[in-house]
Amino acid sequence: MVFSQQKRASAPALDDDILSALRAGLHGALILPRDPDFDAARQVFNAMIDRRPLAIARCADTTDVVTAVNFARHHGLPVSVRSGGHGVAGHCVCHDGLMIDLSSMKGIVVDPDRRVTFAQPGLRLGEFILATERYGLVSPTGTVSDTGLAGLTLGAGYGWLNGKYGLAIDNLVGAEVVTADGRVLHASADEHPDLFWALRGGSGNFGIVTSFELRLHPVSQVLGGMLIYPFPRAGEVLRFYREIAAAAPDELTLYAALLTAPDGNQVVGIVPCWCGSLEEGERVLAPIRAFGPPLADLIQPMPYSTMNTLTDEVIPSGFRHYWKQNLLRELSDDAIDTIIDHVTRVVSPRTVVLIDHVHGAARRVAPTATAFPHRDAPHGLVMLSMWDDPANDEANIHWTRELAAATRPFATGGAYVNEAWDEKPGAAFGVNYERLVTIKNRYDPANLFRHNTNIAPTANA
Ligand SMILES: Cc1cc2nc3c(=O)[nH]c(=O)nc-3n(C[C@H](O)[C@H](O)[C@H](O)COP(=O)(O)OP(=O)(O)OC[C@H]3O[C@@H](n4cnc5c(N)ncnc54)[C@H](O)[C@@H]3O)c2cc1C
Repeated sequence: MVFSQQKRASAPALDDDILSALRAGLHGALILPRDPDFDAARQVFNAMIDRRPLAIARCADTTDVVTAVNFARHHGLPVSVRSGGHGVAGHCVCHDGLMIDLSSMKGIVVDPDRRVTFAQPGLRLGEFILATERYGLVSPTGTVSDTGLAGLTLGAGYGWLNGKYGLAIDNLVGAEVVTADGRVLHASADEHPDLFWALRGGSGNFGIVTSFELRLHPVSQVLGGMLIYPFPRAGEVLRFYREIAAAAPDELTLYAALLTAPDGNQVVGIVPCWCGSLEEGERVLAPIRAFGPPLADLIQPMPYSTMNTLTDEVIPSGFRHYWKQNLLRELSDDAIDTIIDHVTRVVSPRTVVLIDHVHGAARRVAPTATAFPHRDAPHGLVMLSMWDDPANDEANIHWTRELAAATRPFATGGAYVNEAWDEKPGAAFGVNYERLVTIKNRYDPANLFRHNTNIAPTANA
């Protein structure tokens, strides 16, 4: 199955002289279909995505981004924006357009005195965390080290520290943005505050962010790891998980996962991360570790950067992926039983069903304070279907959609834009949608940035 949400328009003609002029204007590289590295450059995390841009502008700096945006606008080319390439729907690569590739822009400056960092969009989470952790400081991001900082931050950014320090967007204090008309703006609470509001959850709709200014917090060692239980006990484990997650102090964020172990047996896991003092963490986690007992208790003190690599091998790059997500109103008994029943019939042993945990500081922000509206859901149910044989596409997609449909009665109806595949913009942006349309009209009335969960402007309608 070729899975592409993008219709192929007829490709605009770009002759060699035009492309040579673009190449000459870039400090970075212009990669064309005839170049040997073209196929590697258009490849993204999800092997289901197979799109061929007309050209890939691998930008070296903000000036290159301006050049690429102006070129695409001038020639009427579709634009896609790539940072870490982990958006599972593959919006970052377009057919027959210009892919603006920021993956080489990995600069980072840490100001330990002001506790802020200025980070470029090509950084992966692992690179970003290691650079700030040297100062005993980190900013909340996600849970897998290979994920791109840029896409994750612009969508919201759920991760191990959200209970104590909020989502990634709650720590964004400023951004350098190249807008659709080629201007370079600085957005913050004081400058272009409407744009700044929209960037915090509006995903890639408003411009290309070339620098993220993020707040840092003093975290180095955390107490984390995984507790693993046999699958037949999944019902009681998930009910226990629900209780401990509901009572968790801000320092403790806990995910649960249903997956297949390398020996072929299904298991259920609880993954805690405690970011307060280690002594207190040992005390808080003791009754959790005593439950069971688990098949394995892998909890130990570790650097925060290590915590962010623990699940790397569970969700690797290069497989075929189809993901759905439901934001749960609560993890009711019926929801738990429905999830477990469906997981017993999982198609691929690589598939993971994850229950994330959004609480504390992340929930104390009003739904309209940033563009990300889903502050009310305590858990997201993330259905991460993974397999390698294209012959199994249909069976895996069908299984995922069935689980999504079966658990919809327990959900808010909203969708987290960073884990959305084919969800509607109204579900992703909810109560903030109309305000986002107004801001889109102001900054991108011609919808240059439309390869995303798109907020369609009405200015030119
Ligand atoms: C293995 C894995 C683990 C994940 N774990 C988490 C997690 O723990 N928490 C969480 O919240 N999410 C998580 N996600 C989801 C993740 O946040 C999104 O996939 C996100 O889009 C990844 O960003 P990226 O830069 O790698 O992606 P890309 O595919 O490069 O970008 C995704 C989209 O973001 C926009 N975009 C990217 N860069 C820019 C930019 N500089 N300026 C403007 N727009 C831009 C574009 O619209 C682009 O299509 C995970 C995803 C994967 C694949």
